[in-house]
Amino acid sequence: MSCPHGEHVPSRPAWRCRACGAPWPCQPAKLRLLAEYAGNMPSLMVYLVALREEAAEHLAELASATPPKNLHRRFTDWVPVHRSK
Ligand SMILES: [Zn+2]
Repeated sequence: MSCPHGEHVPSRPAWRCRACGAPWPCQPAKLRLLAEYAGNMPSLMVYLVALREEAAEHLAELASATPPKNLHRRFTDWVPVHRSK
């Protein structure tokens, strides 16, 4: 499936957004995911953790010496699953 530009989806193995070039997930991608998984944040988290694992492998290969350390912030910390207030 090849989408024209405009879709905020990750390009592998660099994990940058195909639409805006930001590190994926970019803000529009986050908003889309939140809308898609509205009321089902645990499933979104499972999905993002899988993507994070995949990205970690890709990025580690790309960066060869520097394994990415803050992928959890980028991929999963923004998901409002542990909202205690
Ligand atoms: Zn984007």
